[in-house]
Amino acid sequence: MTVTQSLTRHLKNPELFVDLASVPDRNVAAATKRFSVFNPSTGELLAELPDMDAGDVSKAIDKARSAQEQWGALTARERSDTLWRWHELILNHSEDFAAILTAEMGKPLAEAKSEIAHAAAYLQWYAEEANRIYGETISAPSNDRRMLVIKQPVGVVGAITPWNFPASMVARKISPALAAGCVVILKPAEQTPLVAGAMFALARMAGFPEGVLNLIYASEGDAVGRELCSNPNVRKISFTGSTEVGRLLMRQCSDQIKKISFELGGNAPFIVFDDADVDAAVEGAIQAKFRNAGQTCVSANRLYVQSNVHDEFAEKFTQRVCALRVGDGFDPNVAIGPLIDDRSLAKIEAHVRDAVIKGGTIRCGGNRIGKSGTFFEPTVITEVASTMRIAQEETFGPLAPIIRFDDADQVVREANDTVYGLAAYFYASNLKRVWRVAEALEYGMVGINTGRMSSEAAPFGGMKQSGIGREGSRHGLEAYLEMKYLCMGGL
Ligand code: NAP
Repeated sequence: MTVTQSLTRHLKNPELFVDLASVPDRNVAAATKRFSVFNPSTGELLAELPDMDAGDVSKAIDKARSAQEQWGALTARERSDTLWRWHELILNHSEDFAAILTAEMGKPLAEAKSEIAHAAAYLQWYAEEANRIYGETISAPSNDRRMLVIKQPVGVVGAITPWNFPASMVARKISPALAAGCVVILKPAEQTPLVAGAMFALARMAGFPEGVLNLIYASEGDAVGRELCSNPNVRKISFTGSTEVGRLLMRQCSDQIKKISFELGGNAPFIVFDDADVDAAVEGAIQAKFRNAGQTCVSANRLYVQSNVHDEFAEKFTQRVCALRVGDGFDPNVAIGPLIDDRSLAKIEAHVRDAVIKGGTIRCGGNRIGKSGTFFEPTVITEVASTMRIAQEETFGPLAPIIRFDDADQVVREANDTVYGLAAYFYASNLKRVWRVAEALEYGMVGINTGRMSSEAAPFGGMKQSGIGREGSRHGLEAYLEMKYLCMGGL
């Protein structure tokens, strides 16, 4: 038994998940070193897992390479059927998956259930898309030749995922890769490897052939990353995480001109214009800012509110924020769980301190809760200036800075004044303004009169330093396909 009672007591079918340490291939995971996974709400030990190293990754790559030909040669229907079985199994055990997620990551159980449903939706979407890989024929410039394009799997994919959405980030990468005919080596985040382990355990039951899905548990992300980027048998790296690590991986991939898909950090503006429905904007801001305790890459990071509606918005929003309850995600009354670790807590405390020194007013919250643990009060700060750290950096926590503005054109320029370009939101009703602002924002995704926009059916991804490529939708499948041009002459 590698999973402790602190976790199994939350599960309906503990026997399925009690030995998550053995999910990586036994021959590969020869590791004797182990690392521990803790519940961030309680500090309880949840599991001890093999701490795999670069040598283990290299063996996994060899296995994946041997499996690539067989998996790529299956019909689209056969690959789709296996993805469907996996989808079905995950849905059948969704309550256990949600409990594992809440235990290792801390998010409220209702949010964990919604994440598992979202993860399953990716499997469903790409089980369907697997059957829709099309080539094309081209009108040739001369009659003695025919020209066409076929699509083929990229090959072995190395995938690295973060801790904030430990199930949906895995599904969003792996399902299109498998649908396209690629095989995968996945390294989930050190803090949240258990949901990924549980997903892989059920993948075995779904019937993926040996070597198609390979799991690497590791506490040293950099050693794993270096091997994945430098091993020539890995054809593509798909990474979700910070821009800082993305930059490093991009450099490591450059020697071999390896294909990359990167989903990186953000600094989302949330703009409320004076023709907006203020109540709807308040609800949207609560969703966009406080989901997952503000630890999402698309979290509203800077709230710009036009002067005419500023005071009404600030008042109503503050009231809603003060009422959000913080605590253990297994408590059904809790809306905000813990932060993932002390480092995250320290960053938010530093942002609050910096804002107060520079003239910000705390309207609610502002402090950590208790002397131990990583709980932080949901916080609203007004009188925020663009020179403050909260206006410039990704806070990644339950802290909402409100910036007052007058000029509608100027606010768009300010919103765009960042190296990031992942998500933006705005509330307005004038149709001309809606189109102008939507087109002017330099972001990969724009939520208009909504605070929530992620969907398996839509392309998710960023401009500028927020990433390269898109995940989800039909575009997410293309990222795992090579285009091959065939020219048939002498006809
Ligand atoms: P992170 O530090 O970049 O870590 C992400 C993953 O990369 C983890 O699995 C981590 O492993 C691994 N890693 C760390 N250093 C590495 C290295 N040198 N080489 C290879 N892998 C390495 O990011 P995070 O703090 O977990 O996640 C938060 C960030 O992710 C935020 O910036 C957020 O905006 C971004 N994010 C973006 C999206 C998106 O779709 N655009 C979605 C979610 C999150 P270890 O855990 O072992 O360190």
